[in-house]
Amino acid sequence: MRHIAIVGSGPAGYYTAEAALKHWGEEVQIDVFDALPVPYGLIRTGVAPDHQSIKGVARRFEKTALNENVRFVGNVKVGEDINIADLQRLYHAVVLATGAPRDKALDIPGKELSNIFGSAAFVGWYNGHPEFAGLAPDLSGKNAVVIGMGNVALDVARILAKTRGEFAGADIVEHALDALDASHITAITIVGRRGPHQIMMTPKELGELMHLERASPRVDPADLPEESADALLEPGLRKSVTHLRSFAAIPENIRGEAAIDIDFDMFASPVAFHGDGGNVREIELEETRVEAGRAVGTGRTYRVPADLVITCIGYRTSPIPDVPFDDRAGRFANDEGRILPGLYCVGWARRGPSGTIGTNRPDGYAIADLIAADLASKAIDTGSKQGAAGFDRFAEEHGITPVRFSDWQKIDAAEVAAARDGAPREKFVDVEAMIAAGES
Ligand SMILES: Cc1cc2nc3c(=O)[nH]c(=O)nc-3n(C[C@H](O)[C@H](O)[C@H](O)COP(=O)(O)OP(=O)(O)OC[C@H]3O[C@@H](n4cnc5c(N)ncnc54)[C@H](O)[C@@H]3O)c2cc1C
Repeated sequence: MRHIAIVGSGPAGYYTAEAALKHWGEEVQIDVFDALPVPYGLIRTGVAPDHQSIKGVARRFEKTALNENVRFVGNVKVGEDINIADLQRLYHAVVLATGAPRDKALDIPGKELSNIFGSAAFVGWYNGHPEFAGLAPDLSGKNAVVIGMGNVALDVARILAKTRGEFAGADIVEHALDALDASHITAITIVGRRGPHQIMMTPKELGELMHLERASPRVDPADLPEESADALLEPGLRKSVTHLRSFAAIPENIRGEAAIDIDFDMFASPVAFHGDGGNVREIELEETRVEAGRAVGTGRTYRVPADLVITCIGYRTSPIPDVPFDDRAGRFANDEGRILPGLYCVGWARRGPSGTIGTNRPDGYAIADLIAADLASKAIDTGSKQGAAGFDRFAEEHGITPVRFSDWQKIDAAEVAAARDGAPREKFVDVEAMIAAGES
């Protein structure tokens, strides 16, 4: 029997479990650990609450989770509740699928002013991540600034712009729904250092901005390159740029009817935040031009009102004691997923924060192959390991009570039962409440 510990129950973790089952069938026993009492990582706490169809992929992972040879071991934080050496003693292979849950810092003067948040925190707030549920952003000002030109920036801008009615069918948590309903924001500026040809936004997400009830997107026609230059873009990006062109073409009198402006401020690099009384009030931006794909400052600066700022500029993996870490890249130091023989990483913990849920699938399959190769070459100790039974003894000795998949099923049922009309669920937003629901 092969014993594998997977640390992290997000897409990368469950794709790895799926691949290991395909590889070893009945001959493998897999424990999938998670620091939270609930599974599925960013499918629950990252993917936008109004994108329910994407969250449906969890059903595929549930099939894997329910396999007899797979256990969910929730509410166990690796690196704190159990260290890597202990896991390696118990399992033939340990796979870190811990994602990239920390915001990259925007290190500019004024960053300590209040009401400036990273997207991990802000998205965690509206998605009910226990660590960020108490964030309480102040939405009483008129001007929000969202920094970044990727889909996370679009998610954040869209969520800020939607009416309560537009969240019908979404699993946005109640505290966020109420706060957004009372929000006074009338201008959302999306800031990017480069131009339309360098955006990382996908057409579907951009297209959604055209269909918001009370908000209208605006692009300055002067920011758009000659249309003929779009022909050289790959098809997805070309479609995205076509959306920007249609935003630029919306007549001002039509746009004027919208209560909220979503303004794309491109070729603009943040240089400082300014505030009063400790609160952010403005962002200072430097005009840029793009040279060989890079933003170059021009020295000309201007200020944009900013009562709330969300930075969507990327994420970093959290280091785990005794695991080699690539500080510059913000992820575990690895060679094609191998950290050391017997210790591997997949998903965002391996590659950094890019790609969709499906991008993590090949990672999981490649790691199963790598583990098989390391076992065959005896790079990994192939002697017998205690696996799940050994972990259970460890847990008992150390007063750890893991949350099992059957407990999660109870938490899930309680959340579904508590849903407001038309919504799929009302999430528990604190760990104690989750555990209590799992024990009921
Ligand atoms: C805001 C946002 C929106 C997104 N929207 C989409 C979308 O619409 N469509 C799409 O395809 N992709 C989307 N993505 C991308 C997608 O979520 C990621 O590709 C995917 O979740 C990465 O998977 P992962 O398993 O590597 O990490 P994660 O999903 O982050 O999973 C990591 C898991 O590890 C656990 N963990 C972390 N540290 C420890 C530890 N020390 N011990 C135990 N457990 C630990 C965490 O609790 C978490 O459950 C979005 C991402 C973000 C941030």
